[in-house]
Amino acid sequence: MKKVLYLITIFIAQNIFGQQVDCDLQYTAPVTQKSYSSSLACVNENVGSNTNDVLYEPTVNTLIKTVRVNLHVMQKSNPLIPDNFVSTNPDHMAYLNSIFNGGNYPSVNDVYSNLDAPLWGGATNDSYIVDSRIRFQLMGIYFHKDDLGWSNNGGNCGSYCYDNYKINENHELNIFLYGTHDINNTSVGGCGPGFNGESTNYIVYKNTYIDYLAHLPGTPGSGLLGGNPGVVNPLIAHEIGHCLGLHHSWLSTQFTLFPDIYSPHLSVWCSPPVDQYCTNNVMGYSNDKSFLSPRQLGHLHQLLSGGWREQNN
Ligand SMILES: [Zn+2]
Repeated sequence: MKKVLYLITIFIAQNIFGQQVDCDLQYTAPVTQKSYSSSLACVNENVGSNTNDVLYEPTVNTLIKTVRVNLHVMQKSNPLIPDNFVSTNPDHMAYLNSIFNGGNYPSVNDVYSNLDAPLWGGATNDSYIVDSRIRFQLMGIYFHKDDLGWSNNGGNCGSYCYDNYKINENHELNIFLYGTHDINNTSVGGCGPGFNGESTNYIVYKNTYIDYLAHLPGTPGSGLLGGNPGVVNPLIAHEIGHCLGLHHSWLSTQFTLFPDIYSPHLSVWCSPPVDQYCTNNVMGYSNDKSFLSPRQLGHLHQLLSGGWREQNN
């Protein structure tokens, strides 16, 4: 009932203020990678959907599973005050593209294809895996002029942007970069429902543009906004981990599922290597998100082998 009222409120608000919803596709990435079907991956790896996760731990011979991604930029409706990235600025477009490929900082694809070793030895004898054999293909960057969407309608993890602008949601992951929902809190961060088996999967990510401006060459940058794109990209890699079925590595539930994450430092916030046993797991909260354990990767591969995200159509 609460949800119904919430939706009605949005509907009324949109009508009262004559909200202009304006979408346009500004850029489409060339399709250069093939997405493998689930049956192909399962046959070649000789595993079924009900076998133990550990059987899915990838090797150098594992077929790469490609997750297709749509990137959405929420802008203010006044074209003179976008307060976010704009499609006509080549620097902005280069930055947005570099989240997944290229650029001066490790991209999301870099994180997943070149994983670091764990900072602290694991509780199992599993050797760590460098290449997750999971990739992300940017299908398009979309810009939406919508004042409500610019703040994700005030919700840190809400579904406003997803409900209104999702594209091919049954087969592709939609990521929304919105402005901010709280002008007093300009830290970067996001939310990625999915690890609890939600029927909807998306990422909403705030304050990326503020962070970008703070770290342009020649601008001061406060250092309080998350650092630089080298921080933003791994954070997006973290949110993607949520969408693909992983929860925070410091939770006891995850420790039970994946003993090889080995995180005896139980504080949520920590800084390696200053804090002993602080994890560098992508799903942790430390400032080093560069490692995924073999069993976490096995879990991702199992879900992708049977899930919508890996299907071709
Ligand atoms: Zn998280």
